[in-house]
Amino acid sequence: MRPERLAVRVIRAAVVAAMALVLATILGCATAAENSKPAEPPKAVSLGPAKTETEPGAWSPPTFTARQDERDRMCEVIKAYGCTDAAVLAAMAGVPRHEFVPAAVRPMAYRDSPLPIGHEQTISQPYMVAEMTRLLALKPGAKVLEIGTGSGYQAAVLTHFTPHVYSIEIVKPLAEEAAKRLGRLRYDVVQVRYGDGYNGWPEAGPFDAIIGTCVAGEVPPPLIEQLKVGGRMVIPIGPEHGIQRLMLVEKDRPGFVRKRSIMLVRFVPMLREDPTQQK
Ligand code: SAH
Repeated sequence: MRPERLAVRVIRAAVVAAMALVLATILGCATAAENSKPAEPPKAVSLGPAKTETEPGAWSPPTFTARQDERDRMCEVIKAYGCTDAAVLAAMAGVPRHEFVPAAVRPMAYRDSPLPIGHEQTISQPYMVAEMTRLLALKPGAKVLEIGTGSGYQAAVLTHFTPHVYSIEIVKPLAEEAAKRLGRLRYDVVQVRYGDGYNGWPEAGPFDAIIGTCVAGEVPPPLIEQLKVGGRMVIPIGPEHGIQRLMLVEKDRPGFVRKRSIMLVRFVPMLREDPTQQK
């Protein structure tokens, strides 16, 4: 090949390569723009629900038939452990736990054990969900606050007693997934908020009942504040790696609570928005 021809070829190849590079850059930017997420929302944002106000008596939770026999067997185990409340057992028999756990552990959904739900968190053991729900002694129309939405399962169980369920989750992807899942399964009365549950949900309070599904060093004072007189709170208290007790906190009169230890338990820790505040 003559040197001039070679030079022409080299220049042509260089031009083609340069054009390809420009094109790749443009396409690359378009993809990145498509993938770029909107700015982070501020903490403590509400993510649901579809419905806001529910007429008294108008709400009935969705029904599911898949894996009913396994749910019934799970309820027999809960009963054998000592939780025999008929309304609680009916709620536990109604909520499809398998829809709330990752695919990898779905076959084990009806074992009476906690299961991983990602982000180092767990869905509680069914017996614990049942017993904590029973301890709340929910009356129809009660307003209930949950700290630690996790998968949304406990919140779904609570909707069998009242449509006024508020739930706060500090791990953003879990809050988002739970809000979506609850909507998809038609538990769309649950209001999910992403934020630090230590502070409660002052705009929605006061509450007839509060349930904490993560362990704190002390009963968070804002939660006592947001509990109605005559209200009940069930929350695990104790160190992350030590003896934790499930406490029943009853507010008898303004500013005065009675605390009772119900049983020894093991829960994941209550995380704090400001980690220096974690106890
Ligand atoms: N109730 C859940 C399981 C909860 S596990 C269910 O039915 O699936 C405890 C949850 O509490 C975890 O998802 C954890 O991220 C959340 N959590 C921990 N600290 C929190 C806080 N300060 N505020 C709100 N949620 C918190």
